Amino acid sequence: MNVNYHDDWRERVWKCGNCGWQGPGTDLGTGEMFDELMEMDCPSCYERILVVSYPTLSESRENWSKMSVLEREYAEAIARFSERFEAASLKAASQLPELEGDDLVLEWDFIESDTEQTGRFSAIRDTVIRHGEFEVWREPALWEGYERFLQVLGMLRERYGDRLKDLIPTKASRQYLYGDSLSADVKIERAREALGRAQ
Ligand SMILES: [Zn+2]
Repeated sequence: MNVNYHDDWRERVWKCGNCGWQGPGTDLGTGEMFDELMEMDCPSCYERILVVSYPTLSESRENWSKMSVLEREYAEAIARFSERFEAASLKAASQLPELEGDDLVLEWDFIESDTEQTGRFSAIRDTVIRHGEFEVWREPALWEGYERFLQVLGMLRERYGDRLKDLIPTKASRQYLYGDSLSADVKIERAREALGRAQ
């Protein structure tokens, strides 16, 4: 069932098709979260019950009075992030700079601003792709962003061809990159192996 963030799904009573649990939307557990939606799961058996689309900022503003301070901050943070990602994310291989060398080993790094200073919703978290000291690309990092890793890897491969030998996730990047996914590291490892890695 697909609902919008500001619909009345929190008050409505839902029934789990898997285990028979019944209760209001507020009792559902937060499941997987994606860039544009989150899943709400049965609190008893974790079966997915709802797919909730995040609001645009203008949709949130129309519902401002119904929202808690926390929800408002969250809505603004989501909108800010989408804008930033839209503006700064790599969209085509041609945006990538020329790099010299025949054995390009790049790093996929993660940088986070000090959340104590910015507040938890305003922290800047970036993926930084490096060739040695040189910053090849930087864009906002996605939580559990391994699919994004594979997309970007495809564009790097398109740009640098066989010269690209590896894209190594740094230690700092891994938690955000893998998220809660159990298969993310395997998918990334396979894609890296397909490059004919340097070592
Ligand atoms: Zn259930």
